[in-house]
Amino acid sequence: MINLKDPTLFRTENYINGKWVGGSGRHIEVLNPANGTLLAKTVDGNADDACDAVEAAATAFKTWSKVPAKERATYLRRWCELILENADDLGMLMTAEQGKPLAEAIGEVNYGAGFIEFYAEECKRVMGDIIPTVANDRRLQVYKQPVGVVGCITPWNFPNAMITRKAAPAMAAGCTVVIKPDAGTPLSALALCELAERAGIPAGVINVVVGSDAQAIGEVLTQHKKISKFTFTGSTAVGKILMAQCASTVKKVSLELGGNAPFIVFDDADIEEAVTHCVSTKFRNCGQTCVCTNRIFVHEAVAAEFTAKLQHSIAALKVADGFEEGAEIGPLINTQALEKMDALMADALDKGAKVLLGGARHKLGQSFFQPTLLNNISDSMRLANEEIFGPIAAVQTFTTEGEVVEKANATEYGLAAYFFTRDIGRVMRVSEDLEYGIVCSNSGVFSTEVAPFGGWKQSGIGSEGGKEGIADFYETKFHSLGGV
Ligand code: ADP
Repeated sequence: MINLKDPTLFRTENYINGKWVGGSGRHIEVLNPANGTLLAKTVDGNADDACDAVEAAATAFKTWSKVPAKERATYLRRWCELILENADDLGMLMTAEQGKPLAEAIGEVNYGAGFIEFYAEECKRVMGDIIPTVANDRRLQVYKQPVGVVGCITPWNFPNAMITRKAAPAMAAGCTVVIKPDAGTPLSALALCELAERAGIPAGVINVVVGSDAQAIGEVLTQHKKISKFTFTGSTAVGKILMAQCASTVKKVSLELGGNAPFIVFDDADIEEAVTHCVSTKFRNCGQTCVCTNRIFVHEAVAAEFTAKLQHSIAALKVADGFEEGAEIGPLINTQALEKMDALMADALDKGAKVLLGGARHKLGQSFFQPTLLNNISDSMRLANEEIFGPIAAVQTFTTEGEVVEKANATEYGLAAYFFTRDIGRVMRVSEDLEYGIVCSNSGVFSTEVAPFGGWKQSGIGSEGGKEGIADFYETKFHSLGGV
């Protein structure tokens, strides 16, 4: 059991139309990835539950969309405050169901709340236009109006922030939402609803349907006529299916998909800094984020020094249950993820990779994998092309700027990229030439609610965060007013 200060945050039913709904009697077992223990049996919602939630959201939209932005902001601010007040409990729920270290989980809760705070402010500043008229008897006005009911599907790696990043701008804009969280991490999502209810957010404005049949619920959220916009965070493969499903009703679509982030270290880089940020971007959430460093390119002149220091830092990482004091690397999400690490390792070793550290399952068992460092990486290896999504760091070398930029861009993904150099001209050139939605120079720290986060190429459509992150929740209406 999870020892919460406020045990009433532990919810196991769907939240539909402001009510906790039990469903058909089927259950999902939520397991702790660190030790496999049963945390909860939640309801196993289905397509009918999703339809009920859409109907509730459609009804609520009629009134919520008319609530003045300033008043909607008050509800959101209260929700944000309650989340911050309960950050420890929300962090505990997350560590239990997702595995990330508690400090990281609480960090995510604070990050997630930031989106609510930001969009509570931002929705007051979404402006229309008055266009100089083309005829004296007419006036030309442009309104921004909320798009309608929004369907959201979110992943397990950020069980809190991936929800607030979608729901907060949607609700701030006057939309209502139906959310399907990952069936492995529903407790964080349901606790957010409990706090939304306490904040007085009206029934039907936020709905969560937990279910193991992702496909059936996904079909409702991508094809229901009363949903106007669909927003998804997850794998590129599933994103493509859902985007195609949205075509039948021409829904507006936002997608945050996979990444294959390059981390480039030039020969004039501050090596200590590069190592520190390489470790944090590679191993955050046990390597399970779409912006995690995936391919490490180091200039040949500094490769030996960089790799030795990286090895030293990785060796010092504390692998432990996320609840243990000082834990830095928790378990992978499940045994399939562990099997993927085994397969990536086997492929890399077969093709000549050299293991400098780790390389195998961890003695803690369950789904723990050793933080791993490899070099001698070649282009044909799976881990040089696929999203690793685990704690394996693989170092390649390069000679020229042109060569490394070309290699970095040689992927269908375009989410985040990192590079280290103290040459200001190169900072400008490389930041412009990398085909990525997020480019970080001389730091791996970038996540913030005030700036747009989004992928180029097959990493996605649209942005979350910043002024861009609310724009897609509005329709543009041109009012041509005649007879003046
Ligand atoms: P990951 O590989 O990170 O688990 P997925 O894309 O498989 O990413 O999952 C992200 C979210 O998409 C989860 O909530 C999952 O339940 C959901 N999902 C997976 N497959 C489908 C599908 N066919 N239709 C709708 N949702 C899906």
